[in-house]
Amino acid sequence: MRFFAIQFEEFMTLGTTRSTVAYFSMEICLEQAIPTYSGGLGVLAGDTLRSAADLGVPVVAVTLLHRKGYFVQHLDANGQQTESPVEWSPEQVLEAVEARSLVTIEGRPVHVAARKFVVKGVRGHEVPVFLLDTNLPENSEWDRALTDTLYGGDEHYRLCQEIVLGMGGAGLLQALGYDDGVIYHLNEGHSALLTLQLLERQLDGRQHFQLEDADLEAVRHRCVFTTHTPVPAGHDKFPLDTVRKVLGDERVALLEGSGGVYEGMLNMTHLALHLTRFVNGVAMRHRDVSRTMFPDYLINSITNGVHATTWTGPAFAELFDRRIPEWRRDNLYLRYAVSIPLQEIRDTHAVSKGILLDEVKRRTGVTLDPNVMTIGFARRATPYKRADLIFSDVVRLAEIARNVGKIQIVFGGKAHPHDGGGKELIRRIFAADERLQGLVEVVYLENYEMALAHLMVAGVDLWLNNPMKPLEASGTSGMKAALNGVPSFSVLDGWWVEGHVEGVTGWSIGTPEAEGDPSRDALDLYIKLERVILPLFYGLPFAYAEVMRWAIALNGSFFNTQRMVRQYVHNAYFPDSLPADVRVEDTALL
Ligand SMILES: *Cc1c(COP(=O)(O)O)cnc(C)c1O
Repeated sequence: MRFFAIQFEEFMTLGTTRSTVAYFSMEICLEQAIPTYSGGLGVLAGDTLRSAADLGVPVVAVTLLHRKGYFVQHLDANGQQTESPVEWSPEQVLEAVEARSLVTIEGRPVHVAARKFVVKGVRGHEVPVFLLDTNLPENSEWDRALTDTLYGGDEHYRLCQEIVLGMGGAGLLQALGYDDGVIYHLNEGHSALLTLQLLERQLDGRQHFQLEDADLEAVRHRCVFTTHTPVPAGHDKFPLDTVRKVLGDERVALLEGSGGVYEGMLNMTHLALHLTRFVNGVAMRHRDVSRTMFPDYLINSITNGVHATTWTGPAFAELFDRRIPEWRRDNLYLRYAVSIPLQEIRDTHAVSKGILLDEVKRRTGVTLDPNVMTIGFARRATPYKRADLIFSDVVRLAEIARNVGKIQIVFGGKAHPHDGGGKELIRRIFAADERLQGLVEVVYLENYEMALAHLMVAGVDLWLNNPMKPLEASGTSGMKAALNGVPSFSVLDGWWVEGHVEGVTGWSIGTPEAEGDPSRDALDLYIKLERVILPLFYGLPFAYAEVMRWAIALNGSFFNTQRMVRQYVHNAYFPDSLPADVRVEDTALL
């Protein structure tokens, strides 16, 4: 393994791979004090950059500043969500850069400035992140607000934001001197208009009717795309009238000529699919689902991960430092968790659990019992994630708790301000808590974000995940839990199709088929909790600790962004740096 690490660094410094990867993402979770993300996509982006910095990969990233942040969530006694803006001052945490770029929106010039954040790796390598900002005196009032609100506003506002991100971002990088040999990575379709910018550079003054296949190929050669959305409705698209008004006829014609217009709309996924040379789905199952949606494209799968040293809580980090000190530099060493004594796994988890229960007490006044099976469920509150599935039959749940073993459940998750279904879901959890009358203790922690996620994924005994299939492209919080020895109990979708070994790394809910029967999931959840998980937890605690240990050794060692970034480097960014016979075009071989 050491040998591999050395070879890898040589790849990075020798000849062919000296070009830079420019990573574009609408949201990036950089640190607690910078609220420029809403959920999984942003956390993945941040973890990707943290691992790229650790590995010394030459990456630069572009996102929007989101001056108004993503909101603070408040919940009243009935679980009714209200929102308030996050107070943060970009001026205080981020330095301004001098470079500027210019985009044209509805014929107006819009000036784009940027602030810089630097992600530092374990060995000091730096990944600069440029957060684009249109709040400049030379812009109109309306244009100044374009980099204010993440996923806010209407379609028109979103399109303008995506122009700033894709075209403004590409322009800024050019102004900063990143140009020759840059490989562009589009993290989701939001930034797909950067391909339009590249195409215009390629055309160098020629018109859309002079567009040739070779021009498209030249752009494609420099671009890599990761799609995250498993249903057609989820893909970003804009009515052509709006696009025409905002970008003008010539650009619409170019977009038509480059495959971006689909069913009469500008479709960002189609644009990205058509103008990139490597398309990635974020898990094997998601690759298969995406291939069904887009049969004309070869879609690969490099499965998502999480940044191991960020998401391992202090208790397990201390244990790993003592037992397998190489784990920080090379996450593969987590495989050797198999030799950690089970008693140490149990003791370490008890520390993480204590920290979470203290925080629950501090925030809610509720005292949870450290000896009781504690289930965690936290992610964006939106209907397909079915946070309330475990309450489908509260009588049954209460019976299980009474007859087999006590249960307490800790929830977290924000609903998007416009997601009425998500807000309703939170209210239903509060209502279920009322009906359970303490037979199962339920708490919902407000304002789920990075710091709270840290405590939750490490402090519970079981991480529950039961979205409607096949809507979970990957899911990542179960990977964070695994690093802390917390097994998942999840439907077989997203990463869990790969991470799950029944009774070894955790447990499944429902059938393995891509389109399972959703009505069976609740039943299955109860049966497995009643007959397998609770009896193991209460009756055979060391056997339960063995599952915890496998979660670390098998899943923690693999589902991390260090492995993921290495795969992107070798399979997507710089495939030519590998000898032809070991080049992996399609990671089904993985
Ligand atoms: C990890 C994380 C998510 C994403 O969780 P999923 O399981 O992928 O849905 C969302 N929000 C926060 C704050 C996170 O840390």
